[in-house]
Amino acid sequence: MSTEASGSGGASTATPPMIKAASVDKYFGDLHVLKNIDIEVPRGQVVVVLGPSGSGKSTLCRAINRLEPVDSGTIEVDGEPLPAEGKALAALRADVGMVFQQFNLFAHKSIVENVTLGPVKVRKVSQSEARTTAMELLERVGIADQADKYPAQLSGGQQQRAAIARALAMKPKVMLFDEPTSALDPEMVQEVLDTMTSLADEGMTMVVVTHEMGFARRAAHRVLFMADGEVVEDSTPGDFFSDPKTDRAKDFLGKIL
Ligand code: ADP
Ligand code: MG
Repeated sequence: MSTEASGSGGASTATPPMIKAASVDKYFGDLHVLKNIDIEVPRGQVVVVLGPSGSGKSTLCRAINRLEPVDSGTIEVDGEPLPAEGKALAALRADVGMVFQQFNLFAHKSIVENVTLGPVKVRKVSQSEARTTAMELLERVGIADQADKYPAQLSGGQQQRAAIARALAMKPKVMLFDEPTSALDPEMVQEVLDTMTSLADEGMTMVVVTHEMGFARRAAHRVLFMADGEVVEDSTPGDFFSDPKTDRAKDFLGKIL
């Protein structure tokens, strides 16, 4: 793993960054929730986003796959500006996998159906091919034996791993995780983090909002610290945890470590 904040992941001048946000601003009414955000994430980089509640972490994730439109600035994924709507937007959402705190599985569909649905509908993959891929992915996240159960029959950790498999089935270029372990019982946190770590090791570009500092230290190439809608620190995990630059980051770390 590289220790360089910006040099990891095989980025070169010939390839665009996997994610590029330039001068992004977002308001909810009068509330300025993203303030002039400039970020480039090279391919293969794992970025952990830290910050106090309300600092804009979720809004940033949601902006990257256009669940939230932004008011100004541009966001590009793999060199392409975010499309506004229609088929191109559906394709973009497929390119940018997202895993939420709440697992958001379809309750009335089996686990394997949850994983095949997107590829069949959006990627136009055949049912049998989608099923083969789904079973491989469920194997990879360690729940192949749960394939024919319904979400409510699985533990939280298993449901979250199913949600990860579902996102991966779309063959995304980027995976966004918004507090993926926050709703889990403590004994299930590690199995989900292990799944995410192996994904990182395979070279997936990832943006991860989490309070799991162990994951940030071990798996992240880079830490972004947000406060009040701004990215106030952008550094390596080693530097961030041992030598935070701002009072806000010191205060945050003082409360959680
Ligand atoms: P974080 O994920 O860091 O906790 P969020 O991105 O969820 O922060 O929220 C940033 C700010 O925007 C907070 O003040 C929050 O209350 C506000 N906010 C988030 N979503 C909405 C919304 N849909 N409408 C109005 N305000 C919102
Ligand atoms: Mg949030």
